[in-house]
Amino acid sequence: MSIETLTTTNGQLGSNTSHQFDQNQFDAAVMSTYARFPIALEKGLGCRVWDTQGREYLDFVAGIATCTLGHAHPAMIESVTQQIQKLHHVSNLYYIPEQGELANWLVSHSCADRVFFCNSGAEANEAAIKLARKYAHTVLEIEHPIILTAHASFHGRTLATITATAQPKYQKYFDPLVPGFHYVPYNDINAVEAAVSELDEGNYRVGAILLEPLQGEGGVRPGDIAYFQKLRQICDETGILLIFDEVQVGMGRTGKLWGYETLGVEPDIFTSAKGLGGGIPIGAMLAKKFCDVFQPGEHASTFGGNPFACGVALSVCQTLEREDILTNVVNRGEQLRQGLRLLAAKYPHIVIDVRGWGLINGMELSPDIPYTAADVAKAAMEQGLLLVPAGPKVVRFVPPLVVTAADINEGLARLEQALVNIINH
Ligand SMILES: *Cc1c(COP(=O)(O)O)cnc(C)c1O
Repeated sequence: MSIETLTTTNGQLGSNTSHQFDQNQFDAAVMSTYARFPIALEKGLGCRVWDTQGREYLDFVAGIATCTLGHAHPAMIESVTQQIQKLHHVSNLYYIPEQGELANWLVSHSCADRVFFCNSGAEANEAAIKLARKYAHTVLEIEHPIILTAHASFHGRTLATITATAQPKYQKYFDPLVPGFHYVPYNDINAVEAAVSELDEGNYRVGAILLEPLQGEGGVRPGDIAYFQKLRQICDETGILLIFDEVQVGMGRTGKLWGYETLGVEPDIFTSAKGLGGGIPIGAMLAKKFCDVFQPGEHASTFGGNPFACGVALSVCQTLEREDILTNVVNRGEQLRQGLRLLAAKYPHIVIDVRGWGLINGMELSPDIPYTAADVAKAAMEQGLLLVPAGPKVVRFVPPLVVTAADINEGLARLEQALVNIINH
């Protein structure tokens, strides 16, 4: 679709700003949970956003891997408008047709048989943890089930999900944490085998393993195929549930609809959120039929699966399919990695690795330079390119899945200028 068609649906853009932004007023009233870049974004179109000063940026953050169709996509404008006019929220006291349609789309496009809807990634993982615990108690007959998770993982910010997230920086000050988790190094099958046998004592036993197919926030680290296939085998032999956190990598970001497809391994349970609603808050926990042990009243969410979120998410799913966006993800991902590898070859003292799948990619900075990924993101922002760190030394590239070849080339050019500015600084 051309930018012109998009422009007609989104009205005025660019330097035509409407709104004075007062940072002091903002900071006085909003909790300081985020270290914000000093810009305020006001408008978007496709892969571009504009700040309140009218400055344009290429958006390779996409709300952190969330704005699947970019900004102001006609399909989203249409579904949002239609759904708000028809019915936006009721309650799960009643049947919600849009929820059923979205669940059926997800089930027919994945290995799962059943879906529970919520509003975020953390909530989807909470639901998976609860389902796994009930399954462990009732089916595996484990009195104290343990869930294995990986170092450098990220699973969300609720108490259970920061416990699952094996990174001390997210847990500090929030103890006591939730019992029943144990950490292993990622991509290390011996560590899993050792944990499964060592933790089998008395009433304690491993009931589930929760992992990202590719670690996003922890540094864009792809899962090892042989490792995941061996894990599947261990789980098949022991009855341990294999749970994948697809919150960041699912919904087409890797070039396949789900991250597990790249590994050639089906999970028993998986979670989705970020890209699912294209930026409308929605999360989902999906499971195979055999481990769907929830009964009425055992889990719930007031907003979960409401007509608005489900109607819009369904339009995102259908647009992905209709416009064959996964092919674009594969091609643009190749193009981006090729460009990043050229930069790595040209600036080997700065960039030491480029890795990723589809449109989730990381550029790792040398440990020998004093600059962090946040410094690079800041320099890139000054060149009109939005980027987000994934840990201290990895710069993450997660543009909308509709990013064009021209956008990628422009982004790479802006990035190179940012690197040159850092060197000359
Ligand atoms: C972002 C993220 C989450 C948390 O999602 P929220 O919607 O912020 O709760 C969980 N897991 C992974 C892999 C993520 O990237």
